[in-house]
Amino acid sequence: MSDRIQQLSTRLSNQIAAGEVVERPASVIKELLENALDAGASRLDVEIDNGGIKRIKVRDNGKGIDKGDLPMALARHATSKIHILEDLEAVATLGFRGEALASISSVARLVLTSSRDENGKGWQVEAEGRDMNAQLAPAAHPRGTSVDVRDLFFNTPARRKFLRTEKTEFNRVDDTIKRLALSRFDVSISLRHNGKGVHNLRAGSGRVEMERRVAQVCGPAFMQNALHIDVERNGLRLWGWVAEPAFSRSQADLQFFYVNGRAIRDRVVSHAVRRAFADVLYHGRHPAFVLYLELDPASVDVNVHPTKHEVRFRDSRLVHDFLFGSLHRALADVRPGEREDREQ
Ligand code: ADP
Ligand code: MG
Repeated sequence: MSDRIQQLSTRLSNQIAAGEVVERPASVIKELLENALDAGASRLDVEIDNGGIKRIKVRDNGKGIDKGDLPMALARHATSKIHILEDLEAVATLGFRGEALASISSVARLVLTSSRDENGKGWQVEAEGRDMNAQLAPAAHPRGTSVDVRDLFFNTPARRKFLRTEKTEFNRVDDTIKRLALSRFDVSISLRHNGKGVHNLRAGSGRVEMERRVAQVCGPAFMQNALHIDVERNGLRLWGWVAEPAFSRSQADLQFFYVNGRAIRDRVVSHAVRRAFADVLYHGRHPAFVLYLELDPASVDVNVHPTKHEVRFRDSRLVHDFLFGSLHRALADVRPGEREDREQ
């Protein structure tokens, strides 16, 4: 190999970028669902085969993509969501990097079909792991968008080797769907795997409907043992459900935490939650919760990592203490000793 500097081809640079956002079927689905939500969809239908390794199809009823924009949708750094740097300060959409479709189509066979037309007239582009010379073709489609992704990593064997069994990949997909389902009660979501229905969650916004969905996602036993909390202080609000310690888990598999509606994993949050539960759970047991933290968007940075699982709080001490305090107090009812204090 010569050591002269060369520009990477579009395909290669997309494949490299894909390393950051497209790790497995679940990450493809997360990106496609976020796009659908950004397009204002109220209904999301996901179908997968073989844990999503063979095929992923996501259909939405969002606003659709203009015919003229379809080929651009597959290009890297092409987005309709931000236009100038200042937009980044107040990003209201889940996506904005314009990388997902370009990345996915560089490592899979992708068909994008979309319509803005009430009469079901739509258009389709295809890309197959090659440079984006997407050809437009007419296709029938109700208003909205479908993305069909087949044979993930068919052209990148090194990446394909990191995929696990169908069962493991399915579980990751299922977790992604559940995580999203609990962030958008107002959106209907279905999942089918190998032709069989897995979830069919209807939209609803009242407390009863929300609790029905939580029970569908976390199991009825979680809901039966759940304490509902809703605390507000210093511009921070924490609401949701925490299971009483009697419903602790051997794994951290029922832990859903959202910051301003976005599912996140964060060390500050985990630490505060762990400490709040520390004296009510046996060693090695994990708490179960579905919690929503709401705060001024200006006091949290979500633009830390492309997958956006991470956030950075401007005042992490304040957030930590608020979470710990709120949960600790909520659990006071079930903490031995304190119950009597309270009742006296
Ligand atoms: P980003 O979401 O960061 O903008 P993507 O690569 O995920 O980048 O998508 C590129 C563009 O394609 C989006 O900005 C949007 O305009 C359009 N798009 C993608 N998916 C959909 C969809 N399901 N409905 C409507 N438009 C979509
Ligand atoms: Mg996107």
